[in-house]
Amino acid sequence: MFLLSLAQALLRCRSVTPADDGAMGVLGASLEALGFTVTRLRFGEIENLFAERAGPGAKLCFAGHTDVVPPGTGWRHDPFGGVVEGDVLYGCGAVDMKGAIAAFVAAAAATTGNLSLLITGDEEGDAQDGTVRVLEWMQQNGKIPDFCLVGEPTCRAVLGDVVKIGRRGSLNAHITVTGRQGHAAYPHLADNPIHRLVPALAAMIAQPLDAGTAWFEPSSLQITSVDVGNPATNVIPAMATARLNIRFNDTHTGAGLTDWLAESLARFAPQAALDVYVSGEAFLTEPGAHTEALARAITRITGVTPEQNTGGGTSDARFISRYCPVAEFGLVGASMHRTDECVPVRELQQLSEVYKALIEDFCV
Ligand SMILES: [Zn+2]
Repeated sequence: MFLLSLAQALLRCRSVTPADDGAMGVLGASLEALGFTVTRLRFGEIENLFAERAGPGAKLCFAGHTDVVPPGTGWRHDPFGGVVEGDVLYGCGAVDMKGAIAAFVAAAAATTGNLSLLITGDEEGDAQDGTVRVLEWMQQNGKIPDFCLVGEPTCRAVLGDVVKIGRRGSLNAHITVTGRQGHAAYPHLADNPIHRLVPALAAMIAQPLDAGTAWFEPSSLQITSVDVGNPATNVIPAMATARLNIRFNDTHTGAGLTDWLAESLARFAPQAALDVYVSGEAFLTEPGAHTEALARAITRITGVTPEQNTGGGTSDARFISRYCPVAEFGLVGASMHRTDECVPVRELQQLSEVYKALIEDFCV
């Protein structure tokens, strides 16, 4: 079977970010055999691939990644062996997401749609030389599609139960409050940084950031660490630090939250240092014709009506959303990034059928 043998060939490449180990070559060759024009795009040490094939209908792009996280130990089969046991395919990336790539290529082989693929080797890493750079290249060469489908594992319990139409943004902040060290019995001679940090943090968590929206949960601020490291009982320390993470919906931006954190901090600790890293902004693809076509394809093949949600962590869809509407649909995610990551071969075939039904919908 073409689908299974392609999935196995991809799984047999040890493509732990940033390594490729031949994965793009395997994929490129199978796409060229189907009439795709394949462009290999190397940025820094990362292999990426763009492929396209003209056809009828709107331009549909499939986006994904061939890199995987380190497999860890304790696997029952070689994590890079592509072993099938009892109709289940095992391997690092079986679910996230070499299996989905193979499913899409098999769907392309059975259809005539106007298709492209954006495949990166830098999704599980820092994502600097991957999807972001390929999108810039696509923009320069007039290859931005009408709709992009990301094949990340989205399903919760059964294939078809969840489609992602957006993602929350994520912001990490590191706060450093400096004071003046002194004897705990003579506080008037010292400046206790903890007494500045604690009320600043309390103010940040006193109010919810928002109440959520029709498509997003309320944004959440979690203080992830407060560190002083003071071994003495009679010393006011010179410094206190804290870290926090905010998962935010599309009523906020990273810049707006950064300003708000700085203001909250300035009220209690004007000398504090604030370092912020925004790893992704929130985005939403408003449900419309394209997301409806996806939901229809899913229901037709699986019999399941998908829930459209915006939960979970970030994905490369956050970059794609700057260029075109994007949604995500892939396998059941339960085993991703885990020992014995695996997918039933039947589920892989069903996913390919869903992708085929979606392509056919776009072809008209
Ligand atoms: Zn992934």
